[in-house]
Amino acid sequence: MPDPISHPGPDAPKIPEKTVALVRCDTYERDDVFSAVKRAIDLCGGIGAFVTPGTTVLVKPNLLQGLTPDRCVTTHPEVLHAVIRLLREHGCRVIIADSPAAGIPYTAANLKRAYTGAGYDTVAGELGAELNTDTGFTLVPAPDGVVARQLPIINPALSADAIVVVSKLKTHMWTCMSGGTKNLFGLIPGLEKLSLHARFPTEDAFGQMLLDINTLVRPRLQVMDAVFGMEGNGPTAGHPRKIGVILASADYCALDATAARLIGINPMEVCTIAAAAERGLYAADGTGIRLVGDDFQQCTVPDYRKPASYQGGRRGMKPSVPLAFMQAVGRLYVPRPEIDASRCKGCRKCERGCPAGAITMAGNVPQIDRQKCIRCFCCHEMCTDAAIRLRRSRTGRLIAWLMRAEGA
Ligand code: SF4
Ligand code: SF4
Repeated sequence: MPDPISHPGPDAPKIPEKTVALVRCDTYERDDVFSAVKRAIDLCGGIGAFVTPGTTVLVKPNLLQGLTPDRCVTTHPEVLHAVIRLLREHGCRVIIADSPAAGIPYTAANLKRAYTGAGYDTVAGELGAELNTDTGFTLVPAPDGVVARQLPIINPALSADAIVVVSKLKTHMWTCMSGGTKNLFGLIPGLEKLSLHARFPTEDAFGQMLLDINTLVRPRLQVMDAVFGMEGNGPTAGHPRKIGVILASADYCALDATAARLIGINPMEVCTIAAAAERGLYAADGTGIRLVGDDFQQCTVPDYRKPASYQGGRRGMKPSVPLAFMQAVGRLYVPRPEIDASRCKGCRKCERGCPAGAITMAGNVPQIDRQKCIRCFCCHEMCTDAAIRLRRSRTGRLIAWLMRAEGA
């Protein structure tokens, strides 16, 4: 049985807060990435401000389904390499751990396959880091949780002295953007993610639950791989897009808000950031974040393609309009998953991963029950054959057109 969560302990080094470092990095060449990652962390106080020699650090990348680095679904192995090298040179024991996407059983065989696919086995071998294959988890009380009072957390995250998140900057159909905060959903073991999707079916509730995970495990340091991100319908079916930046921060919300602004997304439309604003952890006008490093404006990518679910800054309800009406409009507006039978390989991953039980197979082709579908887009995330597209209804397209027409 692992220890209850105890990090950061009373002797933990002081962590500078709300500073976000932004460092240009145009390639995944090893020396370039190492220099950028080191500079970004140094700008936040140096690796010694976050971890102590001799301690065990869990490094949490975006592993998802272990797709190859060129797909830009996973954290690039060179970014992982740079972070782990700094930790190892600082005298830390490093364990790489994640749980693949919702619907994929959390087994040692699936983990090993994903590590190999993402190139993490090579990184671990070169630097003497460990790849977690312990698939145990523990239901942990979350006394500070706002919506979740207990959470199932994978064991290596509970026994580590510190967690360092090494995320990939991607768009996301459900949470709008996937960065440091969303990354820790990977501490929820495989199929347990489905029950959390079912328990927190709205975007707002889901964002609050993600904050509860972060509040519970308190990651020490965030490094974000935004050399190439994913644009469009992420986190799996979008397209790679160069941003050319490494970010670092002690603060997951400040990091995500800065990353969102870099790619032209209104931070308040990212459900985790909106949830943080509700809790007083983020100022809606973006004040309170200290940017250091390279020039922010020169790093922005204003024409970054948003997910089809993006509402152009119009997230949330107008107080003057009855809530139920707005929610009904919202349901019409949000895209629906549709199966492209010509691409479908009949692998059933989507059926197994649907938290609402809305997918059944008719022969080898999935069918979606629209009444049951809660539009979590897990199926879209899981389908690596791009056989699930997201499309608005005719009314939803009309609403989207009206919103654009109104200058959103
Ligand atoms: S839609 Fe995708 S995930 Fe579902 S069965 Fe077809 S190929 Fe597999
Ligand atoms: S069918 Fe609907 S509820 Fe099921 S995984 Fe897809 S989006 Fe989520």
